[in-house]
Amino acid sequence: MLDKILIANRGEIALRVLRACREMGIRTVAVHSTADRDQQHVLLADETVCIGPPSSADSYLNMPAIISAAEVTNAKGIHPGYGFLSENADFAERVESSGFVFIGPRAETIRLMGDKVSAIRAMKEAGVPCVPGSDGPLGQDDKENLRLGRKIGFPIIIKAAAGGGGRGMRVVHEESELIKSINLTRSEAKSGFGDDTVYMERYLQNPRHVEIQVLADQHGNAIHLGERDCSMQRRHQKIIEEAPAPGISDEERQHIGDICTQACQRINYRGAGTFEFLYEDGEFFFIEMNTRVQVEHPVTEMITGVDIVNQQIRIASGEKLPYSQEDIVVRGHAVECRINAEHPRTFVPSPGRISHYHAPGGPGIRVDSHLYSGYAVPPFYDSLVCKLIAHGDTRASALNRMHTALGELVVEGINTNAELHRILVRDEAFRAGGTNIHYLEQKLASGAD
Ligand code: ADP
Repeated sequence: MLDKILIANRGEIALRVLRACREMGIRTVAVHSTADRDQQHVLLADETVCIGPPSSADSYLNMPAIISAAEVTNAKGIHPGYGFLSENADFAERVESSGFVFIGPRAETIRLMGDKVSAIRAMKEAGVPCVPGSDGPLGQDDKENLRLGRKIGFPIIIKAAAGGGGRGMRVVHEESELIKSINLTRSEAKSGFGDDTVYMERYLQNPRHVEIQVLADQHGNAIHLGERDCSMQRRHQKIIEEAPAPGISDEERQHIGDICTQACQRINYRGAGTFEFLYEDGEFFFIEMNTRVQVEHPVTEMITGVDIVNQQIRIASGEKLPYSQEDIVVRGHAVECRINAEHPRTFVPSPGRISHYHAPGGPGIRVDSHLYSGYAVPPFYDSLVCKLIAHGDTRASALNRMHTALGELVVEGINTNAELHRILVRDEAFRAGGTNIHYLEQKLASGAD
C-alpha cells in the first residue's frame, strides 16, 4: 500500500482525499498556493508545501513544483483530484517517470480519452453507442462539411476535440450557419485549448445526462457502480446530481453498465472513471469519458456503499478489486446539491470571508465541504464550496431530507446558490423525475419560481 500520498488539489476534494488517506493509515502531503494556507486540508495534513502564488498556472498547474514537493517529502503517490492536472496526460507521465505512482489511469489512456475524437473512435470500436456524427475531425473542405452536416441532420453541435468544462461547443440550427460556426469554434478552440481540431455530431433536442461510474484494477477486472443522472445543468455545468437515474430499469442499467466494463477491459483502463452519455427515448449515446474521480461521486457511494476514493488508492497500490459485479447492490436513492459561492440569481462569483458556517446533519445527510467559520473563500478558483448529499430509501425521502438539510445550512458572509437549490428540490417537474438537460435554463429564463 502507498504509505504517503501528495494531494495535488485544493478545496473539498483535497479534504475528501485526505480523509480517505487518514482512514487507511496513509500519511498526507498537502500542496497549496499562497492564497490557500488556511484551507482545512492544509491544516490537517501531515506535511504541507507551498508551491506558488495564487494563480493556478503558477501553483496547482505547476508540474515541476508539485513533483519537487513529492521529492522533498518522499511521497509515494500523487492524487490529482478533479480539474487542474487530473486529466493531463503529460503530468501523469512526468509523475510516473519521476518514480511516483499517479493515482489514476495510465498516461496513454488519459491521452486517448482526453481527445474527444479519439475517445469516440475507441468507444465505437469497443461497441459503445455514440451520437451520430462526423466520425472524426472536420477537414477544411466547406462543401464536404456541408454534405456531412446534411447527412447528420440539423440541429448539429460542433465541438472542440480538446474541449472540456462545458466550453468549446456551438449549436447550429440552420444549414446556412454551419460553415461560419465551424470556423468560429475552430478559432475559439485554438485560443482556448491550443488545438483547433473540431468535429460535429447531432444535437439531441431533449436528452438527459446519464453517466456510468466504473472501477478497474490492474489485473484485468472491471465493474460498474450503476448510473447517475446529472441533467440539472446551467451552461453545461452540473448543479444537482442523483443516483440511480429516475426511470432507468435494472435491465437498462446492467446492459449499458456491461458495455462500459467491457470497454474498460478493452482499453486496459485503470482506476475510477465515468462514461458520460446523453439519454433520449430509451437510448444511450456516449459523449465522453472522464478519467478521474468526479465531483458527483458521493451519490454513487451512498447507494452502493463503495468508497470510490479508497478504491482509487487501492487500485493504484496494485490491489485487486474486492468486489465482483454481483456484489454491487443499489440501495435507496441519493441526491447531491452543489453549493457554489455565487449569487443565486445573477450567478456572479461571491468570494469573501465566511462570518458564520453551520453544516446540516441528521439521518442520510453527508456534507463534503472545506468551509468553516472565519475561512475566506479566495477569488482565484472554482466557486464550489460545499456538496450537500442526501440519501433515503426512496427518491422522495432523499429529496425531503435534502430540503430539510438546505433549510439548516448556514453560510453567512458570502452569497451562495443555496436558495436556488431550495427552489429546485421543491420543483414539481424535478420531483416527478426525468427532467432533461434544458430544464433549468428554461426555468431560469421563464423567471418562474
Ligand atoms: P464537456 O467536456 O465540456 O463537459 P461534454 O461533451 O461532456 O462536454 O458535453 C457537456 C454537455 O453539453 C452535456 O452534458 C450536454 O448538456 C451538452 N451536449 C453535449 N453534446 C451534446 C449533443 N450531441 N446534443 C445535445 N447536447 C449535448
